[in-house]
Amino acid sequence: MTGPAGRFTHEGVPIRIVFGAGVRNGLAEELDRLGLRQVVLIASESSRAEADAMVAALDHRLTWRVDGVRQHVPTELAQEVTDDAMRVGADGVVTLGGGSATGLGKAVALSGLPLVAVPTTYAGSEMTPVWGVTTAGRKQTGCDPRVVPKTVLYDPELTYPLPPHITAASGMNALAHCLEALWAAGASPLTEPLALDACRALCASLPVAVVEPWDSKARGRALVGACQAGMALAGAGTGLHHKLCHVLGGRYDLPHAETHAALLPHVVGFNEPVLGSLSARMAVAVGTGRASTAVHDLASRMGLTMALGDLGMPESAIGEVATEVAAAPPQNPRPADEASLRSLLRAAWEGDGPA
Ligand code: NAD
Repeated sequence: MTGPAGRFTHEGVPIRIVFGAGVRNGLAEELDRLGLRQVVLIASESSRAEADAMVAALDHRLTWRVDGVRQHVPTELAQEVTDDAMRVGADGVVTLGGGSATGLGKAVALSGLPLVAVPTTYAGSEMTPVWGVTTAGRKQTGCDPRVVPKTVLYDPELTYPLPPHITAASGMNALAHCLEALWAAGASPLTEPLALDACRALCASLPVAVVEPWDSKARGRALVGACQAGMALAGAGTGLHHKLCHVLGGRYDLPHAETHAALLPHVVGFNEPVLGSLSARMAVAVGTGRASTAVHDLASRMGLTMALGDLGMPESAIGEVATEVAAAPPQNPRPADEASLRSLLRAAWEGDGPA
């Protein structure tokens, strides 16, 4: 939140964004613009057909193709793909897919290769300088300008095939970005309007996109919201919510977006009492009297599993995660000690509504 006497510092990310139906077909021109002649293409399995089309369109600009994307970016996979990229003399990386494909591309970009991202979900990773890899169940994250894509091609048509469940979960992941951006340490008068606008866009469009996946207006608005949410998070930073999700995801291999969805109402509910007037602005953007309840209702209405226990989190994790996070607590508007983290995690594990 804005510091004393209204002072704040904001660091923007220098990304060229090309948005619109069909813009994926302009990838070759974007690579030429960047002077990239030998790229590695990393594509999610679900985007195989689109990746095949891209391979044909990239022609001589492609030197290597990787299909084996995995969630939470295992360190060995990141190393293997980086080694391959070096061996074939690649001069850039292109990703096509969700946050897992972008995440692998970012891990490779840490070697200095420029990244171009073509996202197909609402994860928003392509807008942030945050990278993450997982070694032996521990997710390590960091911030590095080298992983920021040079160009992002947002083509809403690529999101039409997203099944309702992934649309909902990934959209809730984006909602988590903009809500946490409202209260994170770097939140400022520059990030707040972006985050609130993203909230409005996501809350209005996601329920439509879940039942009408081919609704171009809803898909376009949701993707703009996801982009704004990622930008807001890049400026404001992360806090308690993302910390809990990273520990849970890394330790227990929980599905990333679904974990965000189940946990979010509880973290919002935990912070709401200390946010002052921001709490009301947040509730208006989400569309009802209390943001935490609205977030819970939105996710449930879209058919998401709201109990972390049903997503594979063992009951013993409640104490383990509370102890780990309380030992090095992240910045949060309301201090979170071990006892409060235990009760927050228990409620999320059981899938109760927010306190
Ligand atoms: P994901 O990339 O694993 O995709 C989820 C599922 O959707 C996968 O099964 C995938 O194959 C499928 N899918 C993707 N696009 C599809 C499409 N167009 N049609 C049909 N199916 C499709 O998951 P995600 O939720 O997009 O991203 C999660 C990952 O991103 C996590 O590892 C998380 O840590 C990372 N992330 C990082 C940041 C950051 O700033 N660094 C931000 C958000 C997420």
